[in-house]
Amino acid sequence: MEARARSLLDAFVQDSPRHRAATRRPNDNSSSAKPWDSDDYAKRLGTFKPSTWFHRPRGLMADVCAQHGWINSSSDELRCVTCMATICLLLPSITDREEYERAAEEYEAKLKSVHRDYCVWKGAKAPDSFLFFPELSFDECVHAFRSRFSTIMKLRSHMPIISDDAMNQLSEINEESLKGLMEFLPHEKSDEDIVGCLIALCGWETQSLQSEAAHSNLLVCTTCNQKLVASDLLTIHSNEKDSRRGVPTDKCPFDVIGDHRPWCSWIAVNALNAKRPGWKVVVGILTESLAPTPVPSSQVGVAAPIRRALDDAKRLVQSFVPNKVP
Ligand SMILES: [Zn+2]
Ligand SMILES: [Zn+2]
Repeated sequence: MEARARSLLDAFVQDSPRHRAATRRPNDNSSSAKPWDSDDYAKRLGTFKPSTWFHRPRGLMADVCAQHGWINSSSDELRCVTCMATICLLLPSITDREEYERAAEEYEAKLKSVHRDYCVWKGAKAPDSFLFFPELSFDECVHAFRSRFSTIMKLRSHMPIISDDAMNQLSEINEESLKGLMEFLPHEKSDEDIVGCLIALCGWETQSLQSEAAHSNLLVCTTCNQKLVASDLLTIHSNEKDSRRGVPTDKCPFDVIGDHRPWCSWIAVNALNAKRPGWKVVVGILTESLAPTPVPSSQVGVAAPIRRALDDAKRLVQSFVPNKVP
């Protein structure tokens, strides 16, 4: 809905491109002037939200802007963390392709040129590698996967149900790989464990909401800084219960892929060199380590419950979400 509204807005906005010179004094916080610092890059990237930085061409996406020292200071506005220069970025309607692309190119040049002469970002940028999913060793990958899973399992009794769209994308993980992934985790082979595994696999972890009720948890991606309130999501159990009672609900399933911000390296296939999205990288690292030994006949049935639980989860979504917008 928001996306559609913003598209319409973009289609009617004919504001000419402009940028404003900042009147504030330069920021003397030296930590903001280190293009090579990946934590600073992550902080800058975390300021971008789809509600204030929406539908940008590749060269103006959040990760590219953050790479050149910019934060998203307000709607359609960038501010340099060091020299405080600002760029107000309003593109013409995409219906005039030529005009749109010309304006996009001009703005891309401004990401570099608008910095004040003394600014460290003039002629510098964070390394390209920051834009991609980080290279992880096998041990780092296992450790991070387990640690995300252990936080997700705090939701065991109200585990979110994964959306149909996400399940369709995740279905490229075959039974054997899924079984292998589960073996990295302490689990009880329940539906909740399998769903928890897939949520952790896609980069999510939980954080507690300090000031709220004890059961309130946030599902968080620390890469794109997306945060969802877990109690806003349909859960495996409430779903079964409400569907028996025919109770309508405004809760929605968890799109473990689409709920990341569009530029998140957990899901983004970077146009510059077509790297795989993060969740596929993690599947690769973890399953490539598995010895391709034939499965002993006594274990053949182990994968079947996993597949059945996934099919059950999918069926629940299909039977329960009425009038899905195509
Ligand atoms: Zn600057
Ligand atoms: Zn993310």
